[in-house]
Amino acid sequence: MYADAHAHIHDPRLTKDTSRGSALERAAQSGLDLILAATVSPVDWLALVGFLSTPSASITGTAPIRAGAEVQPAFGVQPDRAQPGGKDAVHTAVSRAPVPGIQIATAFGLHPAYDDGSYDATRDGFPPAALRPQAIGEIGLDHTVNTPLDRQCTRLAMMLKLAAETGLPVVLHARGPWNRLLAVLDTFPSVRGIVHAFGGSPETACELSRRGYLLSAGPRLLDPAARRIRESFSGLPLASIVLESDAPDMCPPDETPPNEPAVVVRLAGALSALRGEPADTIAAGTRRNLVRLLAGKG
Ligand SMILES: [Zn+2]
Repeated sequence: MYADAHAHIHDPRLTKDTSRGSALERAAQSGLDLILAATVSPVDWLALVGFLSTPSASITGTAPIRAGAEVQPAFGVQPDRAQPGGKDAVHTAVSRAPVPGIQIATAFGLHPAYDDGSYDATRDGFPPAALRPQAIGEIGLDHTVNTPLDRQCTRLAMMLKLAAETGLPVVLHARGPWNRLLAVLDTFPSVRGIVHAFGGSPETACELSRRGYLLSAGPRLLDPAARRIRESFSGLPLASIVLESDAPDMCPPDETPPNEPAVVVRLAGALSALRGEPADTIAAGTRRNLVRLLAGKG
């Protein structure tokens, strides 16, 4: 089975001209059974909640993430997880099943390109309980965004503080500067998470891996010209890697947009060729890494 560590499953590009669950159904048919759904803003949180709560999404109920033989299901109230939003905000850390056979974990984020400053974690507390988040993200730094970096760092620190208080892992959108990112992360050493669609250097990959972060391989790995990314992912321990589609974005050049979560099957094949490990080993290992992280064991 495969897991997609980052997708925007409620994006209109995936849901508009087609039956709502079709991208997810294709994912399930391709062997995916777990997707971490990322969001970028408070408006987006509500959009994801709406998608997951619409009857036509065929929600069949909730169930704990299947943790496999290696990891026992660990969702529930953990004594070491403070819950500023009240126990209902976190103890419902279970994923939903919009289509049979595939489970959706949710993350709430403030992407640096979409953060309008309206959400204040101290003032507003935990996001809507209906989102039932299992992670915080996308959050991060992006040097291509107009917002001044100092401001981005402040907002990132606010969300990392919430992650430290809740025990939830984070999903980082990181486009540099990497030294600033590492400095902010180092002020919250207990926080773990994923660096989504990692595109930095092998040295930065090592720095993040050393801090316990997972590096997520996105569809750019399929580009033979993306030498630095391929180098980064060939050198990391498998225990530090997850796979992601970032659907509907990052469509591989030889496919028709929108990109879909099922692309992670190709990514497992590409990593297999790159690392000389069986694709099954890559699929199982990367899925296990995501499950462990979401279970608080990352
Ligand atoms: Zn994304």
